[in-house]
Amino acid sequence: MKLGLILGDQLTLSLASLRVLDPATDRLIMAEVHDEATYTRHHKQKIALLFSAMRHFAQSLRDQGWQVDYHHYRADSDATSLLEVVSQAVNTHRPDAVVLTQCGEYRLQNAMDRHWSGHLGVPIEIYGDDRFFCTTSQFAQWADGKKQLRMEFFYREMRRQTGYLMKDEQPEGGQWNYDADNRKRWDGKTPFPTPPQFERDAIDEDVMALVSEHFADHPGELTPFYWATTREQALDALSFFIDQALSRFGDFQDAMVRGERGLFHSLLSPYINCGLLTPKEVCEAALNAYEQGHIPLNACEGFIRQIIGWREYVRGIYWLHMPSYAKENTLGNDRALPRYFWDGDTRMACMSDCFDNTFKHAYAHHIQRLMVTGNFALITGITPTEICDWYLAVYADAYEWVELPNTLGMVMHADGGYLGSKPYAASGNYIHKMSDYCKQCHYSVKTQAEDDSCPFNSLYWHFIQRHRENFQKNPRMSMIYRSFERMDDDKKRRIIARADHLLDHLDEL
Ligand SMILES: Cc1cc2nc3c(=O)[nH]c(=O)nc-3n(C[C@H](O)[C@H](O)[C@H](O)COP(=O)(O)OP(=O)(O)OC[C@H]3O[C@@H](n4cnc5c(N)ncnc54)[C@H](O)[C@@H]3O)c2cc1C
Ligand code: SF4
Repeated sequence: MKLGLILGDQLTLSLASLRVLDPATDRLIMAEVHDEATYTRHHKQKIALLFSAMRHFAQSLRDQGWQVDYHHYRADSDATSLLEVVSQAVNTHRPDAVVLTQCGEYRLQNAMDRHWSGHLGVPIEIYGDDRFFCTTSQFAQWADGKKQLRMEFFYREMRRQTGYLMKDEQPEGGQWNYDADNRKRWDGKTPFPTPPQFERDAIDEDVMALVSEHFADHPGELTPFYWATTREQALDALSFFIDQALSRFGDFQDAMVRGERGLFHSLLSPYINCGLLTPKEVCEAALNAYEQGHIPLNACEGFIRQIIGWREYVRGIYWLHMPSYAKENTLGNDRALPRYFWDGDTRMACMSDCFDNTFKHAYAHHIQRLMVTGNFALITGITPTEICDWYLAVYADAYEWVELPNTLGMVMHADGGYLGSKPYAASGNYIHKMSDYCKQCHYSVKTQAEDDSCPFNSLYWHFIQRHRENFQKNPRMSMIYRSFERMDDDKKRRIIARADHLLDHLDEL
């Protein structure tokens, strides 16, 4: 008899380890444990989503004939870690081996590789996670010998490998990437789709009560809770996105609108990351809509690029460079995270709206994460570990393998440009161009050095000036340095003085 351990982000019936186990002879174990629920201060909705999805998944496994030992969360449990729960199960059932699918996070995988087998006294069989398109060794081979990686080239490999949007070995429509068509501000007219609401059952209600009792000090609000917690609901969310939002996904992918949770984004990342949906079925649903003529090519290409491109690319980087990647800090940042990242209370309208979305919904769309909160952390020089911890805590889709390269590499450029060729630093102009935030802000986006000037405007130039050594020779940034040089000295001095003042009073903005 073998004991299969199913982790909270492995809620997929076709999981590699489930395929090698036999419901007639083997047992499964799933566990809600204190250590996993608290290794960072996860948003309340993230814990509720995962515990409820795990309980529903255990039910589906039982319906398929599996014997599942489910360890419910108890504050006074004597088993607070996964290892302790598995250890108790090994003592009870005396299995020949413990079987699992490769973990998503280095922290847990490393502990298993180093201590688990010795501690448990039984062999551990680990199977690769083939829900991803690219294996970790395939990625390592692709990256081998490259000093800097570029997602676009990796993405083309993935297009060739999957055959998605390929015709006679050439990209559909003649171009690999239609991003140039995807940078529109919201036109103020196209109505936003309203995502489906799901009925709650007794499992959801039990979990909500548990989270509100035991995780009250974690960030974020528990209700309203809109997330799907079952496979069927997640499939409904996928159909809804394909039918109602995907056709405009490309056009408004970079737009931001005050008070709008997801615009035309899919809101599917929590389900893809915990296994309720597979990346393959999500891409194939989008391709199918394109082939049937329901969505334009720029929408389909833009969407599948995020999944077979970015998602696989960041995972490859994570496994190739952990654990050292987590400690990188090429720009030498050492500033503490300002208070409003936790309490949301700031006069900057753009930041305030992103925090609102984050704390209310455990979600913010990509441009909010990258160009508002991320950009702010970059240009103010926040310590990478502090901002990484924040992103890991506050989003329902946050797992270290995907959060860390996005934050440390894409946002903070702390890996020296390994993941991306240039930092996504921007002044308030970018936010003004892509959103409706500035017209309702306490600060003026039009000026740079006045007492009420948009903080992003001077902080941006401060960033450019203080990292001249790092970026001046970067061909993608030479124009910016030339503009800075051309600025008259008095203006430069006033902008830098304003930024210095803001940095000294960061908590007060
Ligand atoms: C600082 C920062 C932190 C992030 N942390 C996470 C995280 O913890 N977990 C996470 O899943 N994504 C993370 N992302 C990537 C991206 O912002 C989210 O995947 C996306 O916002 C999820 O919303 P959605 O499902 O509506 O995505 P959509 O915009 O609808 O995109 C479709 C899908 O593509 C994938 N995707 C898109 N962009 C990325 C990306 N850059 N990296 C990996 N997958 C991507 C996701 O699976 C997403 O569901 C982060 C981005 C930034 C800038
Ligand atoms: S003025 Fe500046 S701080 Fe205010 S919303 Fe615009 S970009 Fe944000």
